[in-house]
Amino acid sequence: MLEIIQLPVLKDNYIYLLHEPSLNKTAVVDPAVSQPVLNTLKQKGWTLNYILNTHHHNDHIGANSDLQIATNCKIIAAKADNYRIPNIDIPVKEGDIFSLGKENITVIETPGHTLGHIVFYLENSKNLFCGDTLFSMGCGRLFEGSAEQMWNSLQKIKALPKETRIYCAHEYTQANGAFALTLEPDNKALQQRIQQVHQFRKDNKPTIPTSIELELMTNPFLRENTAVIQQSLNMKNKPLQKIFSKIRKLKDDF
Ligand code: ZN
Ligand code: FE
Repeated sequence: MLEIIQLPVLKDNYIYLLHEPSLNKTAVVDPAVSQPVLNTLKQKGWTLNYILNTHHHNDHIGANSDLQIATNCKIIAAKADNYRIPNIDIPVKEGDIFSLGKENITVIETPGHTLGHIVFYLENSKNLFCGDTLFSMGCGRLFEGSAEQMWNSLQKIKALPKETRIYCAHEYTQANGAFALTLEPDNKALQQRIQQVHQFRKDNKPTIPTSIELELMTNPFLRENTAVIQQSLNMKNKPLQKIFSKIRKLKDDF
């Protein structure tokens, strides 16, 4: 079975190490820094085969070259980011599938946070590594893409099986929850999640992974189509992209 190790680094980043034991393959998703990755590899006796980058921001590729030098691993990243992520070995695009041992990894393009942003979906184990596209109860800021692009990207993620585990790249859950509550103060699932998140953070535990199912119940950026959010924004039956855009603007100013 696939083993996933979650490394909290910097202020609020997560690096993920994936190990497929049957063929002894190992990948790291969005290595911001190298030392915790190298320590874990050594501890586990794993050899790093691949780096998977969701996008070009430094808190996601910062350790690429150190790890490549130390382990001779291959870098898998968006073809569209070839000009700004150095030394990509395997450029990928929408629908590409590559394997990590017995796991198939599908590339889904999710422009919005950046134009070249991609996410990695592991169909067999139903895990999604989504960088800065979807967060627990939130979504990435629109640094390069439009609200419409981000909305379209989120529709692709929304369409994955409900039980899919969501591994995002930041621990932003608590602040996101506070914002979500301003739009839906009476949402029971949201109230419950916020309570749970509060306890997790108090115990210094990660609130990630989350799941599609939980996000559908609590994430305002996936709930622009609900009557309660539309009422709360006074935007009943307005185009969904417009409602999404409004939520994003409100969050930016929160
Ligand atoms: Zn980013
Ligand atoms: Fe980031």
